Amino acid sequence: YDEIRLVLGDQLNAAHSWYKTKDTKVLYVIAELKQEQEYVTHHIQKVQAFFLAMEKFASALKEAGHHVLYLTLDDTEKYADLPDMVNQLIDQYLPKQFCYQQPDEYRLSEQLKNMTINCDKSCVDTEHFYLRHDELSKYFKKDTGHRLEAFYRKLRSQFNVLMDEGEPEGGKWNYDSSNRNKLKKDDLKAVPSPLLFSNDVSDINKRIQRHKIKTMGTGGDTLLWPVTRTQTRELLNFFCKYCLPKFGEFQDAMTAKLPDKQWSLYHSRISFALNSKIVSPAQVVNHAIEAYRQNSSTISIEQIEGFVRQILGWREFVRGIYWLNMPDYKTKNALEASRPLPDFYWTGKTKMNCLSNAISQSLEYAYAHHIQRLMVTGNFALLIGADPDQVDLWYLGIYIDAIEWVEMPNTRGMSQFADGGIVGSKAYASSGNYIQKMTDYCSDCHYDVKQKTSNDSCPFNSLYWHFMTQHQEKFGNNPRNAMVYKNWDKRSDMEKQEVLERAEWVLHNLDAL
Ligand code: FAD
Ligand code: SF4
Repeated sequence: YDEIRLVLGDQLNAAHSWYKTKDTKVLYVIAELKQEQEYVTHHIQKVQAFFLAMEKFASALKEAGHHVLYLTLDDTEKYADLPDMVNQLIDQYLPKQFCYQQPDEYRLSEQLKNMTINCDKSCVDTEHFYLRHDELSKYFKKDTGHRLEAFYRKLRSQFNVLMDEGEPEGGKWNYDSSNRNKLKKDDLKAVPSPLLFSNDVSDINKRIQRHKIKTMGTGGDTLLWPVTRTQTRELLNFFCKYCLPKFGEFQDAMTAKLPDKQWSLYHSRISFALNSKIVSPAQVVNHAIEAYRQNSSTISIEQIEGFVRQILGWREFVRGIYWLNMPDYKTKNALEASRPLPDFYWTGKTKMNCLSNAISQSLEYAYAHHIQRLMVTGNFALLIGADPDQVDLWYLGIYIDAIEWVEMPNTRGMSQFADGGIVGSKAYASSGNYIQKMTDYCSDCHYDVKQKTSNDSCPFNSLYWHFMTQHQEKFGNNPRNAMVYKNWDKRSDMEKQEVLERAEWVLHNLDAL
């Protein structure tokens, strides 16, 4: 072969220009590697999904006439790591050139960049995102607070997405205020059951066992996540038909009372297919906009704008934050948080109904929607002052879509405020009040969401005040917190002391909650 081209597990982009021509002198290498299973403990469904999607991608490339070497864990166990594998393959096939696509993860990017090999080496863009990797520094600066809204508007204009002669379609850039409702009792029956796939992963399970790969969560011999382009298209069609009409409206809702376990509500569950690059963000956005244009009586501008904002906005935004701030971002701990995460994050066994629901669902499906991640598990970890390294590892392991470039700015930045305000201007801290407003969890909880100090008081309530007073010096100057501190100051010293004492008790008894 003249050239070896490496395809990483999250680079399954069949539309890449690499594949436009068939060249029998080019060998594509796709490999299951132990190093990728061991940098964090992954959810078993995440390992299954990546391996199966990689296998299917390799088969599709072969069918299209490309030369592909697919290496399973059995084949790669003899290699120490990725550079060792590449070096040995180069010795074996003697190519003139080794080429790879720019990894999205800093760790892999450094590993490939710093590797010395016996032939020419080159790196190309993944051709997946709206912005090329080498353009990011035009939009983002290191250690600088950036806000989504300005970036999102810039990209909407630049890529002419939902625009009408230079103005945002519908007249507004942002429809958040009409979205984000609670699911009421009468709404529950109408929530669609998720479209699930039945992919056979029995052979992959055997490999996972044979190589003693440590995993978390549950997973059987069939995988419900989409692993091919065809399945992804089916999921996207399903989403546009049944979920998009209510996507924005119920984007933040959470409930434990669904009659048919419709666990993903109106969300798309497209994140694995996107992050493994089976589908591109532009394909998803254009498909959804097309559905909106053809069904404007059922899909309103509020719904489509809410969806586009997540992908063209948030997804591209966190990627820029990640790349301009790595590797320092990984060590940021602005609130000097150091507490271990309680054991129930790995079992779901807690009397707090909101956490028990969000964690159990995550263990069962490798999935929770954004607000479950941000306002339940993330909020609790923030309030107890959990070590951001541990919090990152938990999120990086448990979710089907977790890859560091997107996981870390969301977790360490948006959720834990450990970046001191690079991603968001304010910590997403809240008492039980928010959870009660957005969910039906509290009515069936062991704890009383209205109480702050009693033995059965909702732990979020006292922890919230403990957290806000502990960081008053940092947060007090932010005008968005002015009301919070005014409220606190109105209370008697006695009341303040009781709340803080309850919080101390909670912090010392996390595993008993
Ligand atoms: P939908 O609600 O249907 O949204 C559509 C798509 O928009 C998603 O698939 C995703 O690609 C994109 N999107 C939405 N919100 C965000 C966001 N904040 N950042 C980036 N993209 C977004 N997302 C990941 O893809 N990987 C992660 O590891 C990850 N970790 C997170 C950790 C925390 C603490 C938080 C608060 C959020 C995290 N998110 C992560 C963002 C978001 O929760 C998931 O993208 C979303 O829940 C995936 O489900 P979905 O496909 O049904 O999303
Ligand atoms: Fe969660 Fe508190 Fe509500 Fe219980 S009462 S579900 S712990 S917010």
